[in-house]
Amino acid sequence: MNKPTVIIGAGLTGLTTAFHLVKQGKNVLVLEKNDLIGGQIQTIEKDGFIFETGPNTGTVSNPEVAELFYAMTPGCKMEIANSDAARRLIWKDNKFHALPSGLLGGITTHLFTWHDKFRILGEPFHQKGSNPDETVGALAARRLGKSFLDYAVNPFISGIYAGNPMTLVTRYALPKLYNLEQNYGSFIRGAFAKAREPKSDRDKLATKKIFSVEGGLSHLIEALADTIGKEKIVLSADAIKINHHENEWNIDYNTKEGQQSLTAERIITTVGAHALSALLPFVEKSEIDKIACLRYAPIVQVSVGVKNIGGRDFNAFGGLIPACERKDILGILYPAACFRGRAPEGGMLFSFFIGGINKSYLTELSDIEIENIVVREFHKMLGFPANIEPDLIHIARHSYAIPQYEKDTGERLAAVERLQKRYCRLVIAGNLRDGISMADRIKQGASLVI
Ligand SMILES: Cc1cc2nc3c(=O)[nH]c(=O)nc-3n(C[C@H](O)[C@H](O)[C@H](O)COP(=O)(O)OP(=O)(O)OC[C@H]3O[C@@H](n4cnc5c(N)ncnc54)[C@H](O)[C@@H]3O)c2cc1C
Repeated sequence: MNKPTVIIGAGLTGLTTAFHLVKQGKNVLVLEKNDLIGGQIQTIEKDGFIFETGPNTGTVSNPEVAELFYAMTPGCKMEIANSDAARRLIWKDNKFHALPSGLLGGITTHLFTWHDKFRILGEPFHQKGSNPDETVGALAARRLGKSFLDYAVNPFISGIYAGNPMTLVTRYALPKLYNLEQNYGSFIRGAFAKAREPKSDRDKLATKKIFSVEGGLSHLIEALADTIGKEKIVLSADAIKINHHENEWNIDYNTKEGQQSLTAERIITTVGAHALSALLPFVEKSEIDKIACLRYAPIVQVSVGVKNIGGRDFNAFGGLIPACERKDILGILYPAACFRGRAPEGGMLFSFFIGGINKSYLTELSDIEIENIVVREFHKMLGFPANIEPDLIHIARHSYAIPQYEKDTGERLAAVERLQKRYCRLVIAGNLRDGISMADRIKQGASLVI
């Protein structure tokens, strides 16, 4: 058979890429250093709970997501989040408040000051920004006011990036928002204009709905692997080194069976930026450093299950905590309110997020210390009385959870471009570019098929 396209990393990006290549009849081989596939996506079933240790939900933000699920085997079904649980909560003054979704809620909410509520009426008339490297925080403060920055944008950025709005650069981190202001002069005018634009049938596939997979996200990973063929995915592939010699791609790596070598037609890396220099030893340090310096927010995710919540109401997507509220928790999701079968009947599942770019030191705490924080907030923030304790606590640590698209992004993207031009048939993909969400990863995977 012809030489394979070798994909490094069996996370969502690597597997989606391999899936599309296989569908086109291409020869592929996926090399994964861990002994299991899925990367950050891992679903666990335990004691009647089904929980995620990485991402919980995605958004159908582009057609590629819907198209991938249409192409899946019948055993893998997208599950759209229960619309009754759509409320987003924001913590302020010791309780959760619903983030307003309409005009009346916007007027009556306690989250924002009256000054900023009036100010928002003038948003369409504010001048357009001229700094291409303006941060999300600076843009929000300029157009919306400080209380919107503190109680909407800050927790929103915390929920997506576990990041700091004052360091994330808008055109890289939230390109759609950046383009609204640049193309239409205002978020509000831009949103109305966008809603009026005609949409193709394909555009309409991007429903913006929140999704998971029936039984958990790992079912998507397994379905991708089934189509690719398990024999095309090498697990525990250690110390992978890619060599470029006389326009040929040679790869050395170790497995339990010993040292392996092969020649590849094309190389696609999908690993985090920090893992690239060891993989590509032929690239000079000064160039690879421009990519490898990408900062990642560390996160500890704690799944908390309760078998009997005593009829308490947790009908919401979850709650986020603004940095100015000074809590040890970034946010709490309520996955069992959104998706079926995630907790036993009458029970509930929560996902607590700790750490992020601003409180990375919390991710260094021991399991007992993390558990103490979570149990304390389980009682304080979720309102469980002292006689109800969690039936399940599972701690998952991610040292390189979410890349931060900060002001070094331009240099990083330029370095990626240069390397891909210099070394024919090398693709440097993964979440170091093109977006951090599952939907972005699926879109990138589909785009790498040539
Ligand atoms: C806690 C958490 C919560 C998240 N929440 C959400 C969410 O709610 N919604 C959303 O859309 N996204 C979320 N994300 C982001 C989402 O998980 C990612 O976009 C996606 O899973 C990344 O997939 P990937 O394949 O690009 O990277 P990864 O999943 O990191 O896969 C990369 C793979 O490469 C392997 N690898 C690394 N180095 C090497 C090497 N040297 N040799 C061989 N293999 C190597 C790794 O082991 C891994 O399997 C979250 C992420 C985390 C960590």
